[in-house]
Amino acid sequence: MSTSAPPRHTAAAPSRTAMPACDHVPRPYTGPSRADVLAMRKQFTNPAVFTIYSEPLMIVEGYMQYLYDETGRRYLDLFAGIVTVSCGHSHPKIVAAMDEQLHTLQHTTTIYLHPTMALFAKKLASKMPKGSGLDVTYFVNSGSEANDLAITMARLYTGNFDVIGVRNGYHGGSPTAMGLTSHKTWKLNLPSSQIGGVHHAMNPDPYRSPFSGTREEVSSRAAEDIRDLVRYSTPGKIAAFIAEPIQGVGGATHGAPNYLPEAYAAAREAGGLCIADEVQTGFGRTGEHYWGFENSGVTPDFVTMAKGIGNGAPLAAVTTRMEIAKTLTQRLHFNTYGGNPISMAAGLAVLNAIDEDGLQQNSKVVGKRLKDGLGKLMRSHPLVGDVRGMGLMLGVELVRDRATKAPASSETAAVLDAARERGVLLGKGGLDGNVLRIKPPMCITAADADFAVDVLDESLTAAARS
Ligand code: PMP
Repeated sequence: MSTSAPPRHTAAAPSRTAMPACDHVPRPYTGPSRADVLAMRKQFTNPAVFTIYSEPLMIVEGYMQYLYDETGRRYLDLFAGIVTVSCGHSHPKIVAAMDEQLHTLQHTTTIYLHPTMALFAKKLASKMPKGSGLDVTYFVNSGSEANDLAITMARLYTGNFDVIGVRNGYHGGSPTAMGLTSHKTWKLNLPSSQIGGVHHAMNPDPYRSPFSGTREEVSSRAAEDIRDLVRYSTPGKIAAFIAEPIQGVGGATHGAPNYLPEAYAAAREAGGLCIADEVQTGFGRTGEHYWGFENSGVTPDFVTMAKGIGNGAPLAAVTTRMEIAKTLTQRLHFNTYGGNPISMAAGLAVLNAIDEDGLQQNSKVVGKRLKDGLGKLMRSHPLVGDVRGMGLMLGVELVRDRATKAPASSETAAVLDAARERGVLLGKGGLDGNVLRIKPPMCITAADADFAVDVLDESLTAAARS
């Protein structure tokens, strides 16, 4: 990025298919110019706050699955603010619930009773598997805090300290969550006192595993690694095992359905509690089930949630069983904004919207259509090494050579730029930044999915030429 005034971002490239029509008319934008915003960002915000795209995109409005830049140009959003907008941008019912709360009472803390927190906690409990006992929730503001709190409770409950995560996992930006996050590029080299007791087990991803065999065999060997870690690197007992059912930032990788049952068994043998990080996979996104862990038939001891739970409101939660939750009363634990009435109103409205709009079913049906379409691109684009994921939690890994699997990192960035020029916003992830992350608001339609596949087809061709 240059520091001088940037050029106006790239003009629309023609696409074979038109973006599906939308009645929404964006408001005229009257704020500071994109160039001024970029200059202020560079001068006054921490440079660690990054943007994607060679020419940063300014987004000033959103409506359901679409985003608008300052010129009023519409984009199909396939990344949902990093998998955060579950029901749709500025979803009318969620906005109405938040707006009503804003005009009634903006803030109070949990030292007073407020009806919405109680109602939301009760409704959230009803979404957990029947008979699991997962019905006690602590509300916080971010996924990192939710994971921190789950680890704290696991340590208090078990009396053990060590925690096992999975390589290539991402759990947040707080010191504990950063320690659990496994890629060196995603974590700081924190003093060991802050990340002590954290270990990373082998990843069950069949595409890049050093283990050979079927998907199930790779998963079994990765789960067995937890036993090795316990034996070699811990006092023999652990507090917790934490895993994303599908790794999000890691590039939509996941093991076979036997991975989590076998990993949970290994962790529980060592006295550990199991944490399902559902920050990206929860709330119906994987289609078949409401929670990602249900795809493997396991029941965790904690479910941590953020992002989609609030549809953009800063809201996160950790749900566990009462016997475990009680341990936190050994400490004074307080979170100023956790449980605030506006986030609670948003969260309750999100749960209702997912049901009323049939979003889990939509994720299943449109997700399958999208994945099938992406799968077909493998035939004509040698760059596509792997297409994976479930529902609307999909990843497309780009490689320079299907045999060596050399990561196609610069090509992935070129695909992102080419798709943006054609009106589609994608995410990217994986250690080498060579995985297209496709996780749109769950309200996208079949026509959007077909348009996205056409645009990707063209963008892959454009990137291969560049
Ligand atoms: N867990 C997972 C799986 C995530 O993807 C993220 C965010 N990308 C987090 C935790 C951390 O959430 P937050 O940024 O809200 O702290």
